[in-house]
Amino acid sequence: MKIQKKLRDLALATKGFMPPEEGDALFVAACEACRAAPGLKLVEIGSYCGRSTIWLGAAARINNTVLFSVDHHFGSEENQIGWQWHDDSLVDAQTQKLNTLPEFLRTLRQSALGDAVVPVVSDSELFGAQFTTDLSFLFIDGGHGESPTKRDYETWTPKIAPRGYLAIHDVFADPKDGGQAPHDFIYRRALDSGLFTQVSATGSLRVLRRRDEVQPSRVSS
Ligand code: SAH
Ligand code: MG
Repeated sequence: MKIQKKLRDLALATKGFMPPEEGDALFVAACEACRAAPGLKLVEIGSYCGRSTIWLGAAARINNTVLFSVDHHFGSEENQIGWQWHDDSLVDAQTQKLNTLPEFLRTLRQSALGDAVVPVVSDSELFGAQFTTDLSFLFIDGGHGESPTKRDYETWTPKIAPRGYLAIHDVFADPKDGGQAPHDFIYRRALDSGLFTQVSATGSLRVLRRRDEVQPSRVSS
């Protein structure tokens, strides 16, 4: 299965942090997960302006399911004014604070993926505590520090169904390539738990699969 060229072109024209080949790998992984755990939902933590959302929303739609894309839209620490990954065009003129929601909604409208993507404007942990549905696919690309990565792991990975997939972005084994939190507190922790095996690695994207012999309730910190 391949993503429509029109959608891929829109993803590439959308602000964000998902390189093309990693987006394509994300799409392939999401399609595999939908086949491995049919009928279950997809969740993305960290929508930003909707770049990765397009690859994942396209996968959800082709497989007749739905993606919940979660973001409070205030940006991560590194997106704030004065930080490395700040984009001045995303600052709200009134509040002088970052707000990626207008750009995200524009992307969603342009993509016409509104029938397959549920935008969730919320803190990831707050929403996760209310969300009790099993997942075929979880993509974690939210806050990249120690506490947000630990919280996302603990809140969301227990919801992945047997044979479902866990995709993690910005996984760097070597500190000179980037921050270590997604590597240490999500990627390593998932592998070390014995509940996941690796499926693929593309750039800083890692895709793991849940073993099918353990039940979701058994997953814990
Ligand atoms: N996936 C995007 C990039 C995500 S950037 C892309 O492809 O371009 C990380 C995003 O995580 C930011 O938009 C930020 O607002 C969001 N985020 C950080 N901490 C969060 C939290 N605790 N709850 C919800 N969203 C969070
Ligand atoms: Mg990222």
